Amino acid sequence: MFPQRRMRRLRSRSIQPLLCEISVSKKDLVAPLFVDETITSPLPIESMPGQFRYPLNDIADVAAELWKKGVQAILVFGIPGDKDPFGCSAFHPEGIVQQAVRRIKAKIKEMVIITDVCACEYTDHGHCGIVGETRCGPDLLNDPSLELMNKIAISHATSGADIVAPSCMLDGMVSSIRAALDGAGFEDVLIMSYSTKFASALYGPFREAADSGFTYGDRTTYQIHPGNSREAILESQMDADEGADILMVKPAGFYLDILAEVATLGLPVAAYQVSGEYAMIKCAAHHGWIQEKETVFESLTSIKRAGATLIITYFAGDVARWLDEKQ
Ligand SMILES: [Zn+2]
Repeated sequence: MFPQRRMRRLRSRSIQPLLCEISVSKKDLVAPLFVDETITSPLPIESMPGQFRYPLNDIADVAAELWKKGVQAILVFGIPGDKDPFGCSAFHPEGIVQQAVRRIKAKIKEMVIITDVCACEYTDHGHCGIVGETRCGPDLLNDPSLELMNKIAISHATSGADIVAPSCMLDGMVSSIRAALDGAGFEDVLIMSYSTKFASALYGPFREAADSGFTYGDRTTYQIHPGNSREAILESQMDADEGADILMVKPAGFYLDILAEVATLGLPVAAYQVSGEYAMIKCAAHHGWIQEKETVFESLTSIKRAGATLIITYFAGDVARWLDEKQ
């Protein structure tokens, strides 16, 4: 008790840095990248200042730039030239992601490439797989969509992806993809499951970025309601049981309690700081209402403190640069 116990002794300018429990480092970072088959020069994403869709010709250079800064992993999203009801361009050997992965691997062999496995960027209706009639009207069909995810995952692995990341929240997607990958000889390819993904309002800017808005309905029948924590933990537990190598909580900042609990399941956990989280910080900083760098570090520190092993963030490149400036 005071006066013997003085907590401020721990916070002197010389002692404090020695006692820092959590700090963000480059190896925590995963940078999302958008590669667009329909463009020939980088296209700024209006609702995500500083972020771009890149043409195929630029994507390896963009990845190399990140690698040079010290970002060791990227998460690739594709925007295809063709969309159809069945998402066929998502698993074509010459699809946009497949070509991008090959080009990046050819340029920087060591970079860890994670690919988003879903169909919402590739279907004309914008849903994450095959749609059809259900008891409540047209909606995503679970079991028929699994086969589509298997095909996408195998095509990404064939192109050289190190980790496939199914994001569709289908029941049974992890065990289905694991069996498909193993059957095709890709036992060493990891599955990072979007295991706990909430039906969040924070995905708005991403839909502009990835052109994945839907033409009818919404995703509340396959993503988790923000109020349901027990269900959220069970989703990750089930994906762990199905053989996921890395779990994920998405979004990150509004769901740190869930992240902390998922981290106790024992597997590595990725937290996805989503487009809306990025946009909020960028917008407030742009107006001078908050300090961008300090806010970004605080947000990432809180995500790591909650238990994240990896943080997927649009700030990855900036953070790597800021970390260099600090030294
Ligand atoms: Zn999707």
